[in-house]
Amino acid sequence: MPQTIAATAGSDTTFDSLDPRTGAVIAAYPRHTAADVRMAVDRAKRGAQYWAALGWEQRRDRLLAWRGVLARGADQLAAVVSAETGKPLDDARLEVALVVDHVHWAARNAAKVLGRRTVSPGLLMANHRVTVEHQPLGVIGVIGPWNYPAFTPMGSIVYALAAGNAVVFKPSELTPGVGRWLVDSFATVSGSSGDAPVLQLITGLGETGAALCTAGVDKVAFTGSTRTAKQVMAACAAHLTPVLLECGGKDAMIVDADADLAAAADAAVWGAMSNGGQTCIGMERVYVVEQVHDRLVELITAKARALRPGAATASSYGPMTLPEQVDVVRAHVAAALDGGGSAAVGGLASVRAPYVDPVVLVDVPEDNPAVTEETFGPVLVINRVTDVDEAVALANGGRYGLGASVFAKARATEVASRLRVGMVAVNSVISFAAIAEVPFGGVGDSGFGRIHGADGLREFTRTHSVVSQRFRPPLRLMSFDRRPRSARQLLGLIRLIRGRR
Ligand code: NDP
Repeated sequence: MPQTIAATAGSDTTFDSLDPRTGAVIAAYPRHTAADVRMAVDRAKRGAQYWAALGWEQRRDRLLAWRGVLARGADQLAAVVSAETGKPLDDARLEVALVVDHVHWAARNAAKVLGRRTVSPGLLMANHRVTVEHQPLGVIGVIGPWNYPAFTPMGSIVYALAAGNAVVFKPSELTPGVGRWLVDSFATVSGSSGDAPVLQLITGLGETGAALCTAGVDKVAFTGSTRTAKQVMAACAAHLTPVLLECGGKDAMIVDADADLAAAADAAVWGAMSNGGQTCIGMERVYVVEQVHDRLVELITAKARALRPGAATASSYGPMTLPEQVDVVRAHVAAALDGGGSAAVGGLASVRAPYVDPVVLVDVPEDNPAVTEETFGPVLVINRVTDVDEAVALANGGRYGLGASVFAKARATEVASRLRVGMVAVNSVISFAAIAEVPFGGVGDSGFGRIHGADGLREFTRTHSVVSQRFRPPLRLMSFDRRPRSARQLLGLIRLIRGRR
């Protein structure tokens, strides 16, 4: 497999990827050492030259060919996603479908967004021609999580490739098979030799990811927990390597009195419970105005009670992929109940590893960990508010700021614009992640930088401008030979054209 480096001598230890539904070993993968990672990055530098030299059209064609490979192999890839995360096959299929759409958009739009364009030189510098373009950075290190092991890292990989970079990808130790599938499928279309790989896989545990940060990459795109993001940023600081950080969230839904309550309940339950709540933009809090609180709780309760997590294909969602996350979920439910909240659905008994049945908590104090910390499980807190202004204040009160949802009519747009997050879905939930053109990312502890859309392409480039003088200016200002009156003439001109009241 040319795009997956062999481990160096002495580094031949491996780790296993497991099916979280059964604990069965799926496959073993190498634990790449710091030396392996450096070798991969060195090779990627040659890959970056090859890939950049292809130019927009050829890169687009190869990416569109990859899109086809992904679309035709969607069932295969979805099966790997499902095996390594435990999520139902149809959820994995949905994830792969979104990936295909992002490849399509990035391939089609990279030249338009990043290619050289002429900009106005302005009146004073009218004797110049100015061009601005976005050039690739070189080699991007992508570190991904396990919850959406295809969709999430591809938000960086695809956009970095479309911008003309080579990529070295370190998937989560829980989902290396998905990483291998993606990298192998790209190798069939990239046209590059084994000597100059454009997209490579490195596998291992946390230390392999740490090694990638200091292996000479030109940028690190990290998706994962806020805790690890801080370690990544600290490691990258040593070489001033720029970072893009997509971290966790504690997303809130706001429901106003004039909302379609049935639609809000449906969206809240999907947003909170799909993928077992292991979604960075999952709904973890609902703030609902008093008048419709009881009705919304009733609707959400009925929907949540109908869900059946399990290993079957028709299950509502699968197990907790990361075994340790079960303890976090249990601790948050316990804290909410001890702290004065009550359970409308489920409770501590819902936590039966590796599955967690839906839990809906009401009236949980705002300083409780179930409200302030990311739970990352199928747990939804519903708190009542007097009006949407209080809801906005509470939604904005935490340290995270990734996504949000608003269910309302009259004030929906106004409320959405006041939320301190990267993306807001109005009268829907999570919808922004499915639109390739919508930039995706957070503020505060949810990280910074954007994947997806034009911003996501620019994220993996440096801006490069050329200012060319076309003819000598009537007023020579930037020369020691300028006439004494030139500066006064310039100021006179400025007053004339810019000094008007
Ligand atoms: P982690 O932070 O545990 O791990 C993320 C990645 O970082 C993994 O590949 C991990 O490797 C690697 N890693 C671990 N330690 C280091 C280190 N010191 N230096 C560099 N890399 C390291 O996150 P999870 O995988 O548990 O993912 C869940 C988190 O991701 C949640 O908080 C979730 O909200 C967030 N997330 C954010 C998204 C967003 O777009 N904003 C999208 C999806 C998830 P290994 O697995 O081998 O330990």
